[in-house]
Amino acid sequence: MHTKTLTELKAGLANRDFSSRELTEHFLARIQQYDGELNSFITVTADTALAQADAADAALAAGNAGLLTGLPIAHKDIFCTEGVRTSCGSKMLDTFIAPYTATVVEKMAAEGAVMLGKTNMDEFAMGSSNETSYYGPVKNPWDLERVPGGSSGGAAACLGARLAPGATGTDTGGSIRQPAALNNITGLKPTYGRVSRWGMIAFASSLDQAGPMGQSAEDCALMLQAMAGHDHRDSTSLNEKVDDYLGALSGDISGLTIGIPEEFFPDTLDGAIADNSREAIRELEKLGAKVVSVSLPSIKLSVPAYYVIAPAEASSNLSRFDGVRFGHRCEDPQDLEDLYKRSRSEGFGDEVKRRILVGTYALSAGYYDAYYRRAQQVRRLIRDDFARAFEKVDVLMGPTAPETAFKLGDKKDDPVSMYMADVFTIGVNLAGLPALSMPTGFINGLPTGTQIIGNYFREGQILNVAHKYQQATDWHKQAPAFGGEQ
Ligand code: GLN
Repeated sequence: MHTKTLTELKAGLANRDFSSRELTEHFLARIQQYDGELNSFITVTADTALAQADAADAALAAGNAGLLTGLPIAHKDIFCTEGVRTSCGSKMLDTFIAPYTATVVEKMAAEGAVMLGKTNMDEFAMGSSNETSYYGPVKNPWDLERVPGGSSGGAAACLGARLAPGATGTDTGGSIRQPAALNNITGLKPTYGRVSRWGMIAFASSLDQAGPMGQSAEDCALMLQAMAGHDHRDSTSLNEKVDDYLGALSGDISGLTIGIPEEFFPDTLDGAIADNSREAIRELEKLGAKVVSVSLPSIKLSVPAYYVIAPAEASSNLSRFDGVRFGHRCEDPQDLEDLYKRSRSEGFGDEVKRRILVGTYALSAGYYDAYYRRAQQVRRLIRDDFARAFEKVDVLMGPTAPETAFKLGDKKDDPVSMYMADVFTIGVNLAGLPALSMPTGFINGLPTGTQIIGNYFREGQILNVAHKYQQATDWHKQAPAFGGEQ
């Protein structure tokens, strides 16, 4: 059952080939058997999963199934889940039991999804390798000595190893797309505001966006259909009509114009990475797409601008973890200042502390204009670059990540080289655009991904382009020989 896509499992449930209980038990058994090695889950919620599966079977029998009824889903541990630990990968929240459920989780549950558990992630979603997690790194199922990418590395690794058929992730600078590329799965970061951020622990509020991760674009369309929509509890949620994403998959792509930003294929790029993405674009040309070259001249400033804006917002968001209201509290505080200092020093890991320091500095009086304001101006230039490109093309394409999965520990002590893992993904977040990463081949047995970026609210179009590609190729069907199976 685990080799099937979510869409195939949905058909199997409708056809009574198996029950949701059988399906759920199957994935729980796989997690039990294999996750000791992979470490992709922080918390497995077996009892509630089985109860949800029984309820799903009853709904299926009664003929009132929702979009996701009976399908097991793994949620990133950044989403609050009532009554279940919600750690955000941090010691700070190791014992935090969320008192309410995030909109994304709630909406998927309302459509009948079964929650398998909460996936591992970089601490507060800060990282590109999952090595900043308090719960230890996640391993890449394609090579256990390598990272799965991050911050949604647990989600991507459990999908890659087929320990779950569908998952949620979040993407602030690339955290859905980069791990998707490194694990040979498909992941979509929607338009900023398309999916509610309510109950999703904030990292950089103007960039954070939740999205679906799965084996195929079709599976992502199915999950996005359940996740998307306006939420009055999130003031940045947009009140736009939700498209028919599954319906969009039947669209034709002949006449589609693909823009290739020259900045996504720099001379310094690994030739094999470039080749795999160029080959994917050629495949779409065969299906009738036209290709033109475009330029995004300011995109080279996206990593530096992001590493001012994201830490600035993080330093503000993370001030709520003060040892008083929730989260870790130090032993025996002497006074209030001691309580703050020691609770935060003990509760946060090094990368989180680095971001708080950088962000606080960038926002401080005297430096605000030099750093934060300037970074916001650069952000506008990047947005304008994309807007100009979308006057001429329908989608933009290029590699998702500049390299395949690297060895655990390789970049741990070199934050700048770690930050460069997102060089092709971060501009999209600064502009608020939707983008998807799909599997497009291998280098030395390690997966590579190609990114499809669309204009605002064009998730349906992006998913359709990826779906057409996946109907014509089978890279996305390749699974690692993990745990002795194929
Ligand atoms: N790797 C980037 C960072 O560390 C992006 C993380 C994310 O998208 N959550 O900030």
